[in-house]
Amino acid sequence: MCADAKVIIFLGPPGSGKGTQAARLSPALGVPTVSTGDMLRRECASGSNLGRSVQSILASGQLVSDDLINQVVGSRLRESDCKAGYILDGYPRTVSQAQYLDELLGRLRMPSPVVFDFEISTEEIVARLSSRRQCMQCGAISSIDEKSNGTDLFCERDGAELIQRPDDNPATIRERLRLYERNAGKLLRYYGKRNCHRIRAARPPEAVLNDLLARLGSQWSKPVPGRQRKLSIQPTYQHI
Ligand code: AMP
Repeated sequence: MCADAKVIIFLGPPGSGKGTQAARLSPALGVPTVSTGDMLRRECASGSNLGRSVQSILASGQLVSDDLINQVVGSRLRESDCKAGYILDGYPRTVSQAQYLDELLGRLRMPSPVVFDFEISTEEIVARLSSRRQCMQCGAISSIDEKSNGTDLFCERDGAELIQRPDDNPATIRERLRLYERNAGKLLRYYGKRNCHRIRAARPPEAVLNDLLARLGSQWSKPVPGRQRKLSIQPTYQHI
């Protein structure tokens, strides 16, 4: 294990900004984001066997089976870019996945995760998801409200077209929120007594990022007995 490995879990409903924050925090920490939703969408787009087997599940807003997603995550977290840690976005979603992850982290000799729970109201989620657009090339997320007019729908990073995720429609959003609510309480109880932080997600992205960095900074700056630890991350934005 890398002595300073960082394992971070983002919990929270769809639309709470986990992907946006992961994209900002990942370069600040120098660890990759492991987004199970993005991984599955890539499989669907590539037409692989796995993609074909999960396509209709994703379109309906249901969850794929614990066994399948655990296998996907198990092989991803063994890849070489994961040695220094990762931000898990969208995983675990059930207690059974969380138990599998704990065993896996133990086997890989990785530290216990720092968990962030993104809190946000249902009204805010529906508004955000309805206007959310994603670049299918690089995965960057943006909102059509931020655009000057409705025709300006290209990714600021690479110019590729921004699309609305097929599961960001009102009926599927409702189903995803229902499933989230069903599992969230149990998952939070599972992590509740551990290193779990509540994050007020209905704030400007810069404010949420600074909050995450401040909480990570305060705990990773603590000296670890018998070992020198230094934290090099700093807020990259002004406090709001
Ligand atoms: P997301 O991008 O995280 O909203 O995930 C999109 C879809 O991928 C979900 O609605 C599920 O169908 C599937 N998915 C992603 N992560 C998981 C997971 N941890 N467990 C089960 N299904 C998942």
